[in-house]
Amino acid sequence: MVGYVPGEQPQDGVYIKLNTNENPYPPSPRVIAALKDAVNEKLRLYPDPNATSVKEKVAEVFNTSPERVMVGNGSDELLAIVVRCFVGEGEKIIYPYPSYLLYKTLSEVQDARECIVNFLEDYSLPEEFLVEDAAVTFICNPNSPSGTMVPVDKVSNIAGKIDGVLVVDEAYVDFADDNCLRLVDEHPNLIVLRTLSKSYSLAGMRLGFAVAQEDLIKGMIKVKDSYNVDRLSMTAAIAALEDHETFRINIDRIKKTREHLINSLKKLGFFVYPSQANFVMIKCSDALTAKSIYLRLKEQKILIRYIEQPRLDDCLRITVGTDDEINALLETLAKINNSLKIL
Ligand SMILES: *Cc1c(COP(=O)(O)O)cnc(C)c1O
Repeated sequence: MVGYVPGEQPQDGVYIKLNTNENPYPPSPRVIAALKDAVNEKLRLYPDPNATSVKEKVAEVFNTSPERVMVGNGSDELLAIVVRCFVGEGEKIIYPYPSYLLYKTLSEVQDARECIVNFLEDYSLPEEFLVEDAAVTFICNPNSPSGTMVPVDKVSNIAGKIDGVLVVDEAYVDFADDNCLRLVDEHPNLIVLRTLSKSYSLAGMRLGFAVAQEDLIKGMIKVKDSYNVDRLSMTAAIAALEDHETFRINIDRIKKTREHLINSLKKLGFFVYPSQANFVMIKCSDALTAKSIYLRLKEQKILIRYIEQPRLDDCLRITVGTDDEINALLETLAKINNSLKIL
């Protein structure tokens, strides 16, 4: 099998990094302070295997109960746990395409039967998405790399019609107008996944959580490593979830920059998919291919995401950075555009 290939993570720090949807703003100062405080003699001891304090904090902030929460070493770990827990050998996994490429890797690892359903041209789901009876169905919402969103009532509809587990991967939902958390009450087969990597600026800490009814959570906990979340991640998570103000400010400024980015890209002549995430996807022309734009930006030390896969190889995904980063990108893109006109 081909393993999952994450976006480039250059270690020299000279790039404007708009390729892996990290938050351009630092985490809450309360996270840094809490971490410094937690670097102490207690690191000798194993962490709480149940991550009780994080579950309680999540339950408080998201208005649910700790029994409905499971904490993971990033939501990628929770995706792996879901597949290990609910998909027997040869059973089916459904997910739409193009979407998060990790679903494919996880399916292959588990020897599952993959049923890939193509998104329609506008990234809405076709009706036949419901037809197959799968052990697990994934919907990334907002979707990566398109940034588009499947309406919450449509998700609810799907959850109600299938027997298997429906996983809604809400890695980017804090940048969207709606979310599926409220559906957990109605649907015993629904798992909502969240992460602190994007909206809370904590990609480096690795913390995600799942919200679902108690039976599903109990099953998932059986297959996890005992100590899957370390002491420092828990400390960081609690401090981050307590600082609503920093969270709000960062979300608001990213959304504002997103609007500026979308409008400017349209003015440059690109087709821009509507985005509910902290990134936008554009479609490029034959005259100026996605690959050539990606390479020329890289020469100028600006990294964006080019995915060499069907339906994506004429597209580029750009993370919403700071205003300065986005202006630098737009200036460089304008120059690339102009050089084409001169030729
Ligand atoms: C970033 C991302 C994740 C993983 O988040 P971590 O918590 O950092 O593991 C999961 N799903 C999607 C769609 C993502 O983009």
